[in-house]
Amino acid sequence: MLDVNSFESDIIVESPGRINLIGEHIDYNGGLVLPAAIDKKIRLRYRKNDSDTCEILSTNLKSSFHIDLSEISRSEIEWQNYIRGVIYHINILKPGSVKGFDCIIESNLPVGSGISSSAALECGLAKGLNELFDIGLNDLEMIKLSRDAEHSFVGTKCGIMDQFAVVKGQENSLILLDCNTLEYKLIPADFSPYKLLLLNTNVSHSLASSEYNVRRDECDIALSAIQKKYPKYVSLAEIEPEVIEEFRQVLPEKVFNRALYVSEEQRRTRRAVQCLGQNDLKGFGDCLYGSHKGLRHMYDVSCKELDFLVDFSKNIEYVLGSRMMGGGFGGCTINLIHANKIEDFIEKTKTAYQDKFEMELSSIKVNISDGVSIIDP
Ligand code: ADP
Ligand code: MG
Repeated sequence: MLDVNSFESDIIVESPGRINLIGEHIDYNGGLVLPAAIDKKIRLRYRKNDSDTCEILSTNLKSSFHIDLSEISRSEIEWQNYIRGVIYHINILKPGSVKGFDCIIESNLPVGSGISSSAALECGLAKGLNELFDIGLNDLEMIKLSRDAEHSFVGTKCGIMDQFAVVKGQENSLILLDCNTLEYKLIPADFSPYKLLLLNTNVSHSLASSEYNVRRDECDIALSAIQKKYPKYVSLAEIEPEVIEEFRQVLPEKVFNRALYVSEEQRRTRRAVQCLGQNDLKGFGDCLYGSHKGLRHMYDVSCKELDFLVDFSKNIEYVLGSRMMGGGFGGCTINLIHANKIEDFIEKTKTAYQDKFEMELSSIKVNISDGVSIIDP
């Protein structure tokens, strides 16, 4: 196994997790999302090894494996597939460009908590290999091939938001990304005197991958039905709620609810961005609560622990907004809280959560930071 202490790195990459302020489950429905990279990261250390094989170690998982570059295939072991998938897809774009290397992965990103440790891993690998072997991939190629790796090797049909935020993130900026066109705009992440806090339910989102793909299918069914009447629409997110309403009796109830959620979440995202522009943080917070309500009752991807945290925060006047973040079924809530009251809030919420579920709640203070970067070894 690679020795963490004696490993001499040719390059080091830091790859951040991401938050998403609003526009949840919207990326694969072709709408607007509002993510940002954060200051919790995966660090990947690389060295060339002048062979045809690679050795990869994850210190968090205390697990390592070898890859033979002449035959890259899927593994039974999930985390290996992120690595195998990225190398495979780089090789499709730039055949033979990846040579033998060793890599040590260390991380302070909670895994499976909706902060996208998966995209951090994929994009950190793509960025590192691109630099190490001077492959010449641009940002968009790295973003897309990382997503493709997750689709084809891991089997999660994720959208593009996570990889986009991990690669394109900038300190103190939110990314307003149109997932249809991939056009984006940076907007200042100024919530002062409020701050963002994540609360991790520590419920692992084991349903997330399978249900995620089910939601995608349900949205596809809704879009196809609506396109039969209105061929002009190319994505679900662009359809106004009033148009979706016309299909209440036509679509199966669940499918209708998914579609209406997407459409309303899109409208909410626009409103939230407007509120930010007018420094209306109370209005912005209301959008977060609205988003959670939709995710809970219409998109059906929340869980009792997330609902408890969001409900609990509603009775506390210095919390402006709260909602589940990420795929759902566990993971984190994102909260907008007065900066002076954060410790007070963490303590109160931890106690209440412990009493209710006999489980520990973790808190993660996040700052908005740069995307995946090469740092000096
Ligand atoms: P999320 O992206 O919300 O953290 P996912 O289930 O999409 O949750 O991705 C988590 C998976 O990513 C883990 O189960 C593991 O396979 C992989 N992963 C994340 N961080 C690491 C790490 N430090 N070492 C190895 N694999 C990791
Ligand atoms: Mg993920």
